Amino acid sequence: MVASMTSVEPGDSSAHDDEQSVLDEARAVLDPLEARPWVDMEALDHAHRLLLVHAHPDDETIGTGATMAKYAAEGALVTLVTCTQGEEGEILVPDLEHLAAGRDGGLGLHRADELAVAMEALRVTDHRFLGGPGRWRDSGMMDTPANEAPTCFWRADFDEAVDALVRVIRDVRPQVVVTYDANGGYGHPDHIQAHRVTVAAVDRAADPAGTPDAGEPWEVAKLYFSAIPKSYLQAAVEAIRESGSEAFERAGSPDELPGGVSDEEITTQIDAAGQLDAKLAAMRAHATQIAVDGFFFALSNRLGQQAFGREHYVLVRGERGRGDGPNGWETDLFAGLG
Ligand SMILES: [Zn+2]
Repeated sequence: MVASMTSVEPGDSSAHDDEQSVLDEARAVLDPLEARPWVDMEALDHAHRLLLVHAHPDDETIGTGATMAKYAAEGALVTLVTCTQGEEGEILVPDLEHLAAGRDGGLGLHRADELAVAMEALRVTDHRFLGGPGRWRDSGMMDTPANEAPTCFWRADFDEAVDALVRVIRDVRPQVVVTYDANGGYGHPDHIQAHRVTVAAVDRAADPAGTPDAGEPWEVAKLYFSAIPKSYLQAAVEAIRESGSEAFERAGSPDELPGGVSDEEITTQIDAAGQLDAKLAAMRAHATQIAVDGFFFALSNRLGQQAFGREHYVLVRGERGRGDGPNGWETDLFAGLG
């Protein structure tokens, strides 16, 4: 659907062919979809419903892809809301550099296509852009021109953005919501905004007076922020040092790296090593953003399946379930909910 919207100059078929072949390459490694009887179910027929709010296409896969694939495979309703199409991302595929915001443009639509392929890989069928595709633009990093644009997510009318997410929450009624911490994990304005909008929308969705035309109030039982334990960052840094790979040149000590959370603060570890192939296929789908010879793939090779298939969270609202994992961590986002 999105592919047909991709704007191509008349007569410029080669640019489009390049885009298509990159997507086809990513799609070619996917396993054929097995029968999934729950796909046609209504949202509320799923006993477990998980909503994730991310800033750009690819964030969902890098941070939470194995978790999404695991719960989708178990028959939970997994809903992904992405706040922007990531128009300001760097482009790592030379043949597609013309899609950059400063040149022909079109990166956002292409990344929407990449995201669709990634969702096929993770078997996630409910994916939405906040407010509809293209409603808010990638804000770029702080103090860049993209960050000044009135259409960027950083400058969104806050109430409008919150209302848009309230509509999704009341539509799918998730017991569990996942987003970033107050620093957006690493300080990107769209990640910070995704955090603010999500926290406000969880409150407003439960308030009978909030967004009155958006359906029945719904109280989310558990809210999590995705996180990386410092011990995992430490392991990553060691793997980086040992590898000597160019992809790892920028790595510093775990304390210098953004996004690390002490192991004591972590509440939950989802061990989804069985879904690592799906996560790696989804990473390959985001070809303009994640180079197959770059950081994340190298890290997955160095750290191995166990480390890379585990994803971590901090429970910030709701009751913590039984901690049957290492360090007393929960091993299920729905723990304690029955
Ligand atoms: Zn992002």
